[in-house]
Amino acid sequence: MDVAVAGAGPTGLFTAVALARRGHRVTVVDRDPGPAADGSWERRGVMQFHHPHGFRPQIAEALSAEMPEMLTALGDAGAGQIVFPGSPFPALRCRRAVFEQVLRAFAAAEPGVELRSGHVDDVLRSGGRATGLRVDGHDLPADLVINAAGRAARLADDLRVPGEGGDCGFAYVSRQYSLLPGAEFGPMNAPVGNIKTQSGYLVAIFVHDRRTFSALFIRPADDRRFLALRFTEVFETAAAAVPALADWVTPSRSTPITPVQPGGRLHNTYRGQLDAAGRVGLPGLLHVGDAVCTTNPSAGRGIAVALRQAVALLRLIDEYPGDPAAAAQAFDEWCDSHVRPWFDDHVYWDTDLLRRWSGGDVDVTRRLPSDLIMEATEVDPTLLRVVGPYMAMQALPATLDEIEPQARALYARGWRPPPHPGPTRDELAELIA
Ligand SMILES: Cc1cc2nc3c(=O)[nH]c(=O)nc-3n(C[C@H](O)[C@H](O)[C@H](O)COP(=O)(O)OP(=O)(O)OC[C@H]3O[C@@H](n4cnc5c(N)ncnc54)[C@H](O)[C@@H]3O)c2cc1C
Repeated sequence: MDVAVAGAGPTGLFTAVALARRGHRVTVVDRDPGPAADGSWERRGVMQFHHPHGFRPQIAEALSAEMPEMLTALGDAGAGQIVFPGSPFPALRCRRAVFEQVLRAFAAAEPGVELRSGHVDDVLRSGGRATGLRVDGHDLPADLVINAAGRAARLADDLRVPGEGGDCGFAYVSRQYSLLPGAEFGPMNAPVGNIKTQSGYLVAIFVHDRRTFSALFIRPADDRRFLALRFTEVFETAAAAVPALADWVTPSRSTPITPVQPGGRLHNTYRGQLDAAGRVGLPGLLHVGDAVCTTNPSAGRGIAVALRQAVALLRLIDEYPGDPAAAAQAFDEWCDSHVRPWFDDHVYWDTDLLRRWSGGDVDVTRRLPSDLIMEATEVDPTLLRVVGPYMAMQALPATLDEIEPQARALYARGWRPPPHPGPTRDELAELIA
């Protein structure tokens, strides 16, 4: 088959290489021409490019299944591996830019994959099915079209039900640093780095490749007092005031390597394959990756969910040769049961967390959101039997139902997660002002 893929992000490139290895001829189109000759890469339109990413084991699992050499290439580029007991696949410590550069170079070298630079205007349609892409006013014919154009793309918008969800209510501000020669890592409380929920906001250190790391603030998007965090001096002052970040960003340990990166408009969205009548909008067109689901990035699930989708989609394309409508229908059902739950989980969690960050107490009259169930493992480690697989994304959020009453009973007795040292949101806002 000739396959046209819109979007050369992680999902589009992964899917393209995997399809080429099944004998198809794949053209991937992206408006981004790729890294410049000097290696720099602005990546306009993908605002998360320089924000911290955690690469969960599901990503290594997908790569191992379809293109194991890519894991070696990532290692050669400096990506670290975090090995978990009992898990055959590691998480990766890597900057998103490094991950994408390696994946892009890998796809470019793959026989059967052609990377083309251009803006995808629309999906070509003829005889009731997708027949290719229109790219910068020219036709790119194909037997199968894949929309991997990401969270903001409006490609073929008329062919499926509008997405559910929207802005999740949080905003990112981050900056990348490099450890000084001989400097040791700062304190860590998680394999990816140091993640602490403060009073009314969240901070995190993400360790990357080659002794680089990111420092991150996550705050309610509507708290305009934090807009000034985008200015270098303000960011540095605020980071120095929060112990979980201060120990890492101190000039005696590290030096900044990027400007401060603001990042708003974070979404929880879900969008299936079908039109308003519940039919496949256009046989021969399949949507995958962030084009189906985005979740608040604070739990670092996006690429894991996207590549799991891609793996399921590849299986269904193989299972329904010559019947892309059946593959789309089956993929929609799969996403509904394996992807939508992560979207629902985040919507519930985020709504409640914003309420608590505005001064609300834990509401013990209804189901606890997942973050509170995870926090409860601090005092009741027996919960980890169920919470652990959920945190690792080996089990769907509904599996938490079994122990939710046990966790809720803890909160009903008055227990609350102890605050981490550092300023409250109001105190930090005062410092920023
Ligand atoms: C701030 C932030 C932090 C995140 N942190 C994490 C994390 O820690 N861990 C994790 O796993 N995930 C994280 N994510 C999610 C992750 O970044 C996404 O899941 C991932 O980018 C999805 O890949 P994709 O290929 O589906 O889409 P994208 O990466 O968005 O790629 C889409 C591509 O399509 C191209 N495109 C779009 N429209 C057109 C068009 N009309 N014509 C041509 N090209 C087009 C774009 O240029 C882009 O290259 C984070 C997201 C954000 C916003």
